[in-house]
Formats: sequence, C-alpha cells, structure tokens
Amino acid sequence: MTARVLVVDDILANVRLLEARLQAEYFEVLSAYSGSEALDILSRERVDVVLLDVMMPGMDGFEVCRRIKSSVATHHLPVVMVTALDQPSDKVQGLESGADDFLTKPVDDIALITRVKNLARLKMLNDEMMMRATTGKDMGIPDDGAFARALSGRSGRVLVVDDHPRSAARLLEVLSKTNDAFAERDSQTALIKLTEHNFDLLVVSLSMQNADGLRLCSQVRSLERTRHLPIIILVEPGDEARLMCGLDMGINDYLMRPIDRHELLARVKTQIKRKRHSDFLRHRLAESVEMSITDALTGLHNRRYMEGHLKTLVSDSLRTGRSLSMLVADIDHFKVVNDTHGHDAGDTVLREFANRIKRNTRGIDLACRLGGEEFVIIMPDTEMARAYQVGERLRACIAADNFMLNPQLGIRVTASIGLGTLEHSDDTPETIFKRADMALYAAKRRGRNRVVADAA
Ligand code: GH3
Ligand code: MG
Ligand code: MG
Repeated sequence: MTARVLVVDDILANVRLLEARLQAEYFEVLSAYSGSEALDILSRERVDVVLLDVMMPGMDGFEVCRRIKSSVATHHLPVVMVTALDQPSDKVQGLESGADDFLTKPVDDIALITRVKNLARLKMLNDEMMMRATTGKDMGIPDDGAFARALSGRSGRVLVVDDHPRSAARLLEVLSKTNDAFAERDSQTALIKLTEHNFDLLVVSLSMQNADGLRLCSQVRSLERTRHLPIIILVEPGDEARLMCGLDMGINDYLMRPIDRHELLARVKTQIKRKRHSDFLRHRLAESVEMSITDALTGLHNRRYMEGHLKTLVSDSLRTGRSLSMLVADIDHFKVVNDTHGHDAGDTVLREFANRIKRNTRGIDLACRLGGEEFVIIMPDTEMARAYQVGERLRACIAADNFMLNPQLGIRVTASIGLGTLEHSDDTPETIFKRADMALYAAKRRGRNRVVADAA
C-alpha cells in the first residue's frame, strides 16, 4: 500500500523525524510547515492521511482540521492530531474540530504506523466506495440504502470481552454513548456470540485472568464467519511484545491502558466506518458479478456468460469424447403479442417462458436468454435423440397452458425449437450453434410450434 501522508508541523526536526519513520514503512510523504501551506497542498495533491500538529503559529491545527472537514473536496480525508501529552483537553477540541484520531508527542513508532495504516485503508475503501456507487448508479444497480448506511457508520454493534468487571463496565459506559455495546466475560462464550450474531467490532482485553485475549483474536480471524470482523485490543503499558504479536495476526487497532475515552471513541468510529465501507464494497461486487452474467428480465444467464461457458463445454466434450447438444428456442409471432397487448405484456410472456424453460431443464443444463425472444439451452452429456425429447417436452409445455397476462387474460404462446449437436472433432461453438440455428429456421418454415433436429 503506497498511501500518501501529509505531515504538517512548524518545527523542521519534527517533520523530518515523522518523514523518516513513515518512509521506512514505504509511505509516500509530503510535508508542510504551516497550516496555510498544508491547505494549499491539499488543494493540489492527492493525499490519503494528514498528520497535523496542534501548536503552530498563525493558523493552529484545530483550525486547519476544521477547514479540511468543512470543504466538500476534503471532508473524507482522515486527520490525525498530534497533541502534547500534558494537554488532555486538546483531544476534546480535536474531536470537536473533526479529527479522526490522535498521536501524543513524543510519537511512538507502533502507534504512528498503526494509526496511519488504519486511516489510509479507510480512505482507500472510501474512495473506492464512492467510485463504485457512481458506476453502480450508471449501470442502473438499484441502491437499497447500502450506500447511505455505509456512509453513516456512526453507531454499530460492539462486543467487549473483558473479565475485569470494573474495566468492562467503564468501557461499556463510554461505548454505549454512540453504539450498541455488549460485554462478555468468557472468551469462548464471546466466540459463540460472534458467530451467531452480527457484530461490527470486537474489543478484547489482553489483561484477562482466565483467558488469553490473543487466542480469541486468532480464533476470530480463522473462522469464515468472523474473518472480516474488526478487532481492537486493549494493552497494558510494557506489553509491546504481545501488541506486536496481535498486529502480526491482523488485529486492526489497539489502545494502551489507562484507556482515554476520546481515543477509544475515535478508534471505534474508524473501525466501524471501515467495516461498513468494506461490507458495502463486497455487496456491490457480488451484485456486479451477478449482473454481468444474468439477464435482468428473466434471471436466466445472459449471452456473454453463455458464450464463455459454451467454449469451455465444447472443448471439454471434444477432449473426453462425451456428447453435447444445444436447443435454440424462438417464440412464434412474438411481435403480435407486443403489438396487441403492449410491451409489458410481452415482458410477462418472456418471464413465464423462462420459467417454463427452468422447469424443463436439469441443474447441469445451461439456460440463457440470447436476446429478444430467443433462448438457448446447452445440455452436456446429451445425445441428439435425448435432446430432441427435451425439446419436444419443452415445446409441449409452452403450448399446453395459456400464458396469463393478468388473472383474467391468458393467451396461447408457441415456440419453434432447433437442435444442434456436437458431431465432428473439428466442431466449434459456432458450428454447433449454426446447426441449431438452421434447424430453428427450418422449424419456422415448416409451420412453427415444432422441434427440428436436422435441417438438411
Ligand atoms: P417469428 O415467429 O418469425 O419468430 O416472429 P416474431 O414476431 O416472434 O419475430 P420478430 O423477430 O419479427 O419479432 C420479435 C419481437 O420481439 C420484436 C421485438 O419488439 C420483440 N422483443 C424483443 N425483445 C423484447 C423484450 O425484451 N421485451 C418485449 N416485450 N419484446 C421484445
Ligand atoms: Mg419469434
Ligand atoms: Mg426473432
């Protein structure tokens, strides 16, 4: 990940120090020595995370942060406030000005890299989400509110695992302000809850008496159901070894005890946002994969999918010497349906036609809508005589019962079907398709509502 980090500090030595540490982790670093210089860079350059010193002459860090967060062009940009250790009120003011997280001077290496990585990842997810949402809209994917939910991301379901009653109670009290928070003392019960219910975040104490918090983290990471669940661990000062171990196994963030409530809330908010964003993207991806292979009107496979799949099936059949047949079905005088009853009625007929195809084919058969009122059924392991029977059964099923346009009005629909079979060792998808198409043409010529296997 080559995220671009903007470091803003009026003291050259501070900038250089952060620069060196970030570059060592392969971040790209830009630097600014004043608030106005920072804003100027942000107006010109792509930046993924801003590290912002609070104390600067002229415009201080809070004001810079407020300006970043109030501009449409930059309000999604994550900002980390670098505050002085002895100024706890800075954190409150930082949150009020819109900061996403904090680092305290002197800046600790692990903290620096963890904060920047988390926020850079969030920014990238956010960028991608915006892009997908736009293309989704362009492609006519209906937005079922997933996008709005992903963006809101303020409250989530959080499970706290801590067997120290006072500590758990305090965490719960802070988290409940903005989230649905639950506490669990036993780590195995927690694991069961996580697999049975939908949580957005897991907070695990590493200071438990009766369980190893890291073991729970590793179990959560290894289960399919919980693999993507964000995890924040709570670490005792001096326990850097286990912190590193946790980071290595993929926990997302941490807090040092004693827990600062502002830091806790900021980190929880970032993780929940990130979870929402990646859920949205996963959902969108599944949808677009689905859309790219499915005909929207009938739910059958589309032509593109059929063409790809047929190529594979033909070469498999040629290699193994197994049979392969194909039916091409075309509705008879379909134009009359549209002309008489309207286009919507035509669509209803197409949908019902597809349903009858589904009822008459096996799971391994591939049914698709080629376009218009033309459909294809590809049948692996099927010889011509058997394919003819399937075609005849389908034809009869279409002709037998009226297609209902509404509860009162049914119309008679018939279809002509042509059959093509893999015959020669030099056959290709095109030659088989051509055979079926010629047969279909013959079926139309010979009076429609019939199956023709051999046009010759
Ligand atoms: P034939 O028996 O020779 O196949 O006659 P036909 O009327 O079925 O064939 P033709 O190719 O002349 O007309 C096909 C019609 O299908 C014309 C077109 O408007 C209609 N059509 C194509 N796609 C759709 C669709 O998605 N929905 C609807 N309602 N009609 C469609
Ligand atoms: Mg037709
Ligand atoms: Mg036609």
